[in-house]
Amino acid sequence: MPKKFDQIIRPEILDLSAYHVPPSVGMVKLDAMENPYSLPKNIGNEIAQLTANVSTNRYPDTNAISLKSTLREAMGIPVEMDIMLGNGSDEIIQIIALAVARPNAVLMSVEPAFAMFRMIATFVGLRYSGVPLKADFSLDIDTMLAAITKYQPAVIFIAYPNNPTGNLFDAEAVSRIIKATPGIVVVDEAYHVFADASFMSSLVQHPNLLLMRTLSKLGLAGLRLGLLIGRPEWLTQFEKLRLPYNVGVMTQIVVEKVLQHPDVLSQQAAAIKAERTVLNECLKRLDGVEVFPTDANFVLLRVNEAHEVFLELKKQGVLIKNLDGSHPLLKNCLRVTVGTPSENRQFLETLQSLITKSIN
Ligand SMILES: *Cc1c(COP(=O)(O)O)cnc(C)c1O
Repeated sequence: MPKKFDQIIRPEILDLSAYHVPPSVGMVKLDAMENPYSLPKNIGNEIAQLTANVSTNRYPDTNAISLKSTLREAMGIPVEMDIMLGNGSDEIIQIIALAVARPNAVLMSVEPAFAMFRMIATFVGLRYSGVPLKADFSLDIDTMLAAITKYQPAVIFIAYPNNPTGNLFDAEAVSRIIKATPGIVVVDEAYHVFADASFMSSLVQHPNLLLMRTLSKLGLAGLRLGLLIGRPEWLTQFEKLRLPYNVGVMTQIVVEKVLQHPDVLSQQAAAIKAERTVLNECLKRLDGVEVFPTDANFVLLRVNEAHEVFLELKKQGVLIKNLDGSHPLLKNCLRVTVGTPSENRQFLETLQSLITKSIN
């Protein structure tokens, strides 16, 4: 008799629930930090021409030489640093986690943080330690340093700005963590374009610092491209775990083409930042809504009965993210991505009608 799945699959995998992506067809989609704007027609046409001529019968360039040099220039990556590409930065987190997964090794992050840090630790058999943030979502540096001493983590992931809270941590505190850590620290700058801060220029000072970026939140989520930037001694090891053709030929040529028009995505990011200010101001004027500061393309807010508000918004065609129940610090919290002006208006009007209803 063959064994049943639950005798073959690892118990910690049996205990997981799969990453849930809710259906969103026809909805105002403000749940996933996507850029709401598409590419201009002229770039779309250039892409159409490029893809028509691409050799889809051949494997992509595994070293993506041309794309990496375009990225290096576009992002101002220091010459001393190497680049590793991933099928989204999710894949890079997994590669790093696999590489450090010695018996009993610890992956550390803060809580609440990006859910994949914890999930991927479980995938690869690492122990996970999540150090709680303070109630205002700032770093609790003393607790963090104590946890580092106690667990001696192989790797710490810090999103800068943080997801799902949206804030930038104090840079000085992050530097102290990097200096205190025996292992590596990965600063995940997924929301870099919406913040005016980066650890790019700190890479040369810290031998154990790695920087992660993604093109997803910038406007190319559908192409799946993330990058890891760091010293060759680290990246040479991680490269051994990267599956040879993880970044397809379409992704390589399309990203390169878009980056040849640097103003397009940066103008879209500027529009999103301007809309973020408007959305923030409008939310602050609503009674019964607490708004948290954000340096990302989303806003974290707290309302009464968040779960009901979330469901009612969904019923009325507006999809956001309900964080209530995901962590004690996120009680009654919702996360909304900054969309187009009309999407944001639709969200605000619906939210306002729900709140007014519940007050009266
Ligand atoms: C969205 C997000 C990612 C994942 O990005 P992909 O490149 O699309 O895989 C990584 N880190 C943080 C903090 C994110 O919010």
